[in-house]
Amino acid sequence: MSVLLPLEDALAQMLAAAVASSAVVQRPLLDALGLALAEDVVSLIAVPGDDNSAMDGYALRAAEVSGALPVSQRIPAGRVGTALQPGTAARIFTGAAIPPGADAVVMQENCERDGDLVTVSGPVTKGQNIRPRGQDIGVGETALAAGRVLRAQDLGLLASIGHATVSVHQPLRVAVLSTGDELREPGSGELQSGQLYNSNRYTLGGLLRALNMEFIDCGIIADDPEATARALQKAAASADVVITSGGVSVGEEDHVKNQVERLGKLDLWKLAIKPGKPLAYGRIGDTPFIGLPGNPTSVFVTFNLVARPFLRKMQGITEPEAPALQATAAFTVNKPGWRQEYLRVSVQQSEQGLVASKFSNQSSGVLSSVSHSNGLAVVPPGTVVAEGDSIQVLLLDLLT
Ligand code: AMP
Ligand code: MG
Repeated sequence: MSVLLPLEDALAQMLAAAVASSAVVQRPLLDALGLALAEDVVSLIAVPGDDNSAMDGYALRAAEVSGALPVSQRIPAGRVGTALQPGTAARIFTGAAIPPGADAVVMQENCERDGDLVTVSGPVTKGQNIRPRGQDIGVGETALAAGRVLRAQDLGLLASIGHATVSVHQPLRVAVLSTGDELREPGSGELQSGQLYNSNRYTLGGLLRALNMEFIDCGIIADDPEATARALQKAAASADVVITSGGVSVGEEDHVKNQVERLGKLDLWKLAIKPGKPLAYGRIGDTPFIGLPGNPTSVFVTFNLVARPFLRKMQGITEPEAPALQATAAFTVNKPGWRQEYLRVSVQQSEQGLVASKFSNQSSGVLSSVSHSNGLAVVPPGTVVAEGDSIQVLLLDLLT
């Protein structure tokens, strides 16, 4: 198991094993924002329900526009008119149903009103300014398909077909454990020499909440085999997935991997990516386990590249990830690497298109490289990059 796996191979193996959670819940629309739709939503009504006016103006028969027409009725939005008498026009307002017999609406700016008469200027074509029944959604049409993440406009769409609630996958429960004797919680006092504040807990908690998943905070685990085993078992019992940070490298203080092997099974270890090599994946009992590296930047990168697609599938999301962008490199990579590298970059719009600039320090311990970047530039193994080359960039705002 010491061969480094390419990311795609590891992901294919993990995604093949990921099963969408069957826990489904009915929620009021506004409480479903960001969650995954659990079933296709088929509309029982047409939207709009009537042919209706797209303008404030006059409804008439297109063939009858010569000369002045008597205004025979007035139809505000929300009211229903009567059949349009031949040779007349109906005063009509935006959104009002077209009266039977009318086949066009002329906007009021192109009409001259004189008492009970209206004169229309310009040619009128059949159907103009009429929004036909069902032009947005037809009866029996699938308005939204299962597996999509509900966005604000989707809530609006569901409301437009009369739904007050919607069936969504329950947020996935993800337990997060931070390993390391050197860790202190921020707010728990000053650091002693050799200590550092636990940042991964907050990065991971934030990433999970941004994905609308339940972050189960299992705190810090000591670098000790028994304590690690106990904490992993407890986490696995209370969550759908267990994620750890640190303790999956090769040192004798790295206990996570061994304990997962004892309590379950380790399916893969070590990816050919930089940062993020020592990633581990397996099971604790039946609960999927993802062991992220300890370095804060590696945590961010591997969560997004590996854990995120896995969790999305378990959450019932089938919608594809946002596509990567192409940008022009404003930096060089002179030495080809043997792992696929993910450089933290800032992408900016210029007159020549998108330009990516590399953050100065790309060390996996430098979390500022993530905070002060908005993208990950992908440098495949064996490649060098010259200034001006086109490179692929994953935008962080589309991930978090
Ligand atoms: P490890 O994989 O456990 O050897 O950790 C690799 C590096 O990441 C070490 O420098 C750790 O101190 C650091 N590290 C591990 N866990 C965390 C954490 N939760 N927050 C910040 N840094 C961490
Ligand atoms: Mg450690």
